[in-house]
Amino acid sequence: MNFIVCLKQVPETESVRIDPKTGTLMRTTVKGIINPYDLYALEASLRLREARGGKIVVLSMGPPQAEESLREAISYGVDEAILLCDRPFAGADTLATSYTLAKAIEKIGGFDLIICGKETTDGSTAQVGPQLAQRLSLPYATYVRKIDVKDREIVVERSLENGYQVLVLPLPALITVTKEIGRVRIPSIRGRMRAKRENIPIWGANDIDASLERIGLKGSATQVVNIFSPPVKKEREIIEGSAEDQAKRLLDILETQGILKR
Ligand SMILES: Cc1cc2nc3c(=O)[nH]c(=O)nc-3n(C[C@H](O)[C@H](O)[C@H](O)COP(=O)(O)OP(=O)(O)OC[C@H]3O[C@@H](n4cnc5c(N)ncnc54)[C@H](O)[C@@H]3O)c2cc1C
Repeated sequence: MNFIVCLKQVPETESVRIDPKTGTLMRTTVKGIINPYDLYALEASLRLREARGGKIVVLSMGPPQAEESLREAISYGVDEAILLCDRPFAGADTLATSYTLAKAIEKIGGFDLIICGKETTDGSTAQVGPQLAQRLSLPYATYVRKIDVKDREIVVERSLENGYQVLVLPLPALITVTKEIGRVRIPSIRGRMRAKRENIPIWGANDIDASLERIGLKGSATQVVNIFSPPVKKEREIIEGSAEDQAKRLLDILETQGILKR
């Protein structure tokens, strides 16, 4: 059984700083890590390969430094890693990202299951997995917490707010996974050594035969106008008294601040 795991390098949440003047990410201060949910996607693929055999290819679109995250993925024991890195890929929204990943996956071919994280910790749209499935005309399930393989189909448990849903998907298919998939292993020393010397191919737009109109900023239907940290207000007021007094005071405050109109 052959797997493709989609992995994004994201900024470590604690090191994210926004430049208050330009409203953009201060990239020099940001440390890149594997998107935490993508570690669960990796773990799921490793467990399935242990049970069924096969090959795992990890795919990431990102800047040159995303190679570090791919090397880390290799240290967990995946077979191959490919980086999609080219200037025209920059500034991609989810539509352009899923198009680019789909073109690369078409080139890789021969897969049974694509595994993504349920979402990223930076963009957090959770759109890339379903868009990718749509582009590749694959059945898919999101928020998967358990996977069972039966011949040419998988049975998955999909987390819902108040329970779970069981779905049967014919292969090839795509799933996005949650952390309930299971504890992520620690890379072995051998894996770490291999990660240092492994060759990671870098593919650009031409390599995957991508249309320049559909990738990066040019191929993006949405654009970020501004990003800012909400100003932290220090004033605090504890409202006391009866429930009625507290409600009245709260309404006054909301009205004074222009949040509520009566
Ligand atoms: C508010 C906001 C600001 C942004 N600002 C910028 C910006 O200034 N510049 C810029 O370039 N981008 C920016 N983006 C990011 C861009 O839209 C996303 O990186 C990209 O489209 C992926 O979407 P996502 O992070 O929401 O992924 P999700 O849909 O949440 O990811 C789900 C899964 O898809 C897979 N996946 C997602 N992205 C990749 C990838 N690149 N490679 C491999 N697998 C992947 C992973 O398995 C991941 O767990 C911004 C996004 C938002 C919402």
